[in-house]
Amino acid sequence: MAAGNTLLFEFSQNLDDRFITTDSLMERALPMIEHYMGAQRVFFFNWNAGNSIISQRMMCESGNNYYLQEDIYVDPGAPEIIKFLHDGVMDAPALEYPAVYVLLVWRTPLNSIQTLQSRQATRSQYGVLRVERFKVNKPFAREDKELLLGLARELCVKLNMAEIDHYNTAQLKRAVALNDLAQVFATSIRLSDSLEEILKSVQSSFCFDRTSLYLADPQTGKMQGLSVDIAGDIKKVDEQDGLLGRFCGACTQEFGQCPAFGISDISITLPLRLQNKNLGCLVFDNVLSRSPISQEDVLSLRQFSAQIALAIDNARLFEKVQELSNYDDLTKLTLRRFFNETFAQEIYRSRRFNLTFSLLLMDIDYFKSINDEYGHVLGDEALKAVSEVIRSSLRQTDIPCRFGGDEIMILFPRTTGEEALSIAKRLAAKVSAVKLPDRLTRGADIKLSVSQGIAVFPYDGDDQTDLVRRADDALYYVKEHGRGLCKLYGEIAEDKKAE
Ligand code: GH3
Ligand code: MG
Repeated sequence: MAAGNTLLFEFSQNLDDRFITTDSLMERALPMIEHYMGAQRVFFFNWNAGNSIISQRMMCESGNNYYLQEDIYVDPGAPEIIKFLHDGVMDAPALEYPAVYVLLVWRTPLNSIQTLQSRQATRSQYGVLRVERFKVNKPFAREDKELLLGLARELCVKLNMAEIDHYNTAQLKRAVALNDLAQVFATSIRLSDSLEEILKSVQSSFCFDRTSLYLADPQTGKMQGLSVDIAGDIKKVDEQDGLLGRFCGACTQEFGQCPAFGISDISITLPLRLQNKNLGCLVFDNVLSRSPISQEDVLSLRQFSAQIALAIDNARLFEKVQELSNYDDLTKLTLRRFFNETFAQEIYRSRRFNLTFSLLLMDIDYFKSINDEYGHVLGDEALKAVSEVIRSSLRQTDIPCRFGGDEIMILFPRTTGEEALSIAKRLAAKVSAVKLPDRLTRGADIKLSVSQGIAVFPYDGDDQTDLVRRADDALYYVKEHGRGLCKLYGEIAEDKKAE
């Protein structure tokens, strides 16, 4: 027995490390048990006493571990099972070589929902080891069985600890995940950035097979989404997109009366709601791995869906404000700050790909006197009308900007000076046809006219400052020479030389 006690002590010491999962603990324990018992094979079964199924989980043969997955039905009423439960150890009667079973009983912590339901903090788990001497026909003596019982008892203590460790680690991971998410919400403000950040951090914290975020278009109500998979790859998904689409489709239909969350073992759908606004939903799934999503995860995600909804709403609001602040209220043209960003990008692109573009500066002629004679309200109308002419005449890719006062700048990507000149003439013709409202003109027939100057990249300048200066030079030249015309900087340079 002294030898037995030494073995037990050694066994216990060797299992003193932290094992986050019971599997990693068993990987260490089975070869030792095989060795101490003079056996050549040890099986580990999980025993689900509730449905009388035992499942093969792992086998150690000659020191090597193998994972197994096979369910076996046992009759819980059979006399030998009852004796086994009582004694904890039993010979395996059906085998041709010596083999014994030993019962393992340990406790596992329950999650908070289960604890609330059962008023217990832990639950019993059952397992069985089968120790086989199939190479030597040496039956298990009473001392062998006693040693095995001791080893089993020690193993159960370690299993208990591994379960608690596993539980605590999962809790900690969840707390870290929630904290990470909170930081994402605090920092990401642009909608597109925040959606990706939210998805990525949920995915990396909770390790689902896939996490998808669907947002309902406020106008059409159609759901559009982004999904990130286990490898961190992000792709766009829509309602028709397979299984996720169906989850989400159901969610859209039931939106009004949708319960707190739709949930199955391997997927969760959480609606994103803010006050009475339905913003969309989040879908988490383990459809590929089929590993069940824990109740604890559901709880954490539910808490967070409200914050996610808030973050999305904030980001949307921010984008709206941003958009508004990029445009001038009166003319609906972009403001200089936004224009300059686009201008810089266009210079970069044109340099990189050897492209040309034109920059046009337009100024309303004698605008001050319109203001002075007919009042600022009419001045505003005139400015609006000129801008409307521009907005309705340009291509999608052209970028007009209210440069200041009555000056309007237009950037024409991939456009030569000659092309810009003919657009400018067309614009001038349309402006001269503008009819201002009679009630403000007091019956007078006011003809608007504009002067325009054009600079061409890269011939007239290679950077923003030079190009603007050259367009302004060309405009100034027109103002000096009678107004109402349009000139390329290239032309006036020649004229200037001639003068
Ligand atoms: P020029 O042909 O030389 O351009 O003569 P101008 O009278 O148009 O002279 P200038 O371009 O220097 O005058 C711009 C005027 O535009 C001065 C300013 O009072 C007026 N202005 C600037 N912004 C607005 C606006 O938002 N509304 C109105 N009504 N007037 C504006
Ligand atoms: Mg003017």
